[in-house]
Amino acid sequence: MDTIITRFPPSPTGFLHIGGARTALFNWLFARKTKGKFVLRIEDTDQARSTDESTAAILESLEWLGIDWDEGPYFQTRRYEIYKEYIEKLVASGHAYYCTCTPEEVDEMREQAKAQGKKPMYNGRCRERGISKGENSVVRLCTPDSGVTVVEDIVKGSTAFQNAEIDDFIIQRSDGSPMYNLAVVVDDLTMGINTIIRGDDHLINTPKQILIYQALGAALPVFGHVPMVLGADKSRLSKRHGAMSVGEYKNMGYLPDAVINYLVRLSWSHGDQEFFTREDLIEKFDLEHLGRSASMFDMDKLNALNAKHIQAQSPRELAPHLIPHLKELGIDAGDDEFTHGIIETLQPRSKTLKEMAQGAGFYYLDKVELDEKAAKKFLTPEIKGMLEAAALAIQALDAYTQENLENVFKKIMEDLDLKFGKIAQPLRVAVTGTTVSPGIFEMLLALGREKTVDRIHQAMDYIKGLE
Ligand code: GLU
Repeated sequence: MDTIITRFPPSPTGFLHIGGARTALFNWLFARKTKGKFVLRIEDTDQARSTDESTAAILESLEWLGIDWDEGPYFQTRRYEIYKEYIEKLVASGHAYYCTCTPEEVDEMREQAKAQGKKPMYNGRCRERGISKGENSVVRLCTPDSGVTVVEDIVKGSTAFQNAEIDDFIIQRSDGSPMYNLAVVVDDLTMGINTIIRGDDHLINTPKQILIYQALGAALPVFGHVPMVLGADKSRLSKRHGAMSVGEYKNMGYLPDAVINYLVRLSWSHGDQEFFTREDLIEKFDLEHLGRSASMFDMDKLNALNAKHIQAQSPRELAPHLIPHLKELGIDAGDDEFTHGIIETLQPRSKTLKEMAQGAGFYYLDKVELDEKAAKKFLTPEIKGMLEAAALAIQALDAYTQENLENVFKKIMEDLDLKFGKIAQPLRVAVTGTTVSPGIFEMLLALGREKTVDRIHQAMDYIKGLE
């Protein structure tokens, strides 16, 4: 079999949309799975709306998602000479022709067609006129007048389009610039693309593109049009349904692997498996199980998957993703053992990295920020002795291990005849400032001996201040 070559051709008129990311993913996964090639192409021919910032944002989001490309990014605006060459070829072979009809004339043809109960379209007037290249001429493709153009689609099956309803559409404007469908076909052809997975909003372009392939005598690629992503109210996903850009998901604290897992599952399945690692997806992805029906975006599902991915990854893997969120909170954390230890305590209790960063904040402080209510309730004069004993015993430990810490408090419970509940909460408030934290021993362990003892001393000073 030929090497599979897929592509992602975003138009740089905004950020990377979550729906666009999903099509990028399908193409990327299929290329990776088949050890094929994935090409990135920037479709920037709409120069009024395309910006360098959008291109940069799209590339950044793809990189964040871990979608890497083997070729490109190609830019359509740098390929005009290639399009011209192909357009000239089409004219020379009689598959396209110059047309000098004015917009008013074309409007009139459309009106006439309408009056005859037909689809409003150009009537092919210049087909036989043998007009040669001129200043005000556009180039039109000579399309068949009868029969059907069938889109064989691996997702949707076959759809037949009546050729009588496809007019001789323009492939080159009078300024020499290519029209969208022409540029797409020439690109896909010259880049060797043989598999095209895209949103079904493009299905309407596909018969025209097929006619261009046929006019060029080229073999068709495999097409797969996947249904759009819908919001919870079943309308097409849009801003009012919440975050639309991949960047927003990054900022909200989602892991790229979770986003990928979630997006793929929106229109693809592998039995009833929900959780997939990146490697899993590359191994199992196929085109046979792309879904035909539109799926709804479900934040709860994404949250659940994100929590699972946070638990499944190692602290070392998570750290680079967490650190920017800590920075947002003004915490300059290093990618080091201290941070890795902290992450381990928070993995089972964080749905997002943002949440994890909030939960991690207390570890990094020099001075504990005591929650007033918690301090009032738990940091009372009668527990000062317990805190003092704890600080002394912790300082005296040979090794600062969870087992040794547990023994320290076992002994304090016996010596001072206190139940664990009476010890754990004051200690937690002393060390974290609040009544909520990861399990007490794992938390103390992650915090480290020095910080733990220092914080117990701070709490004792606080109690002294009350006396
Ligand atoms: N540039 C188009 C878009 O951003 C994609 C075209 C295609 O996949 O053929 O929607």
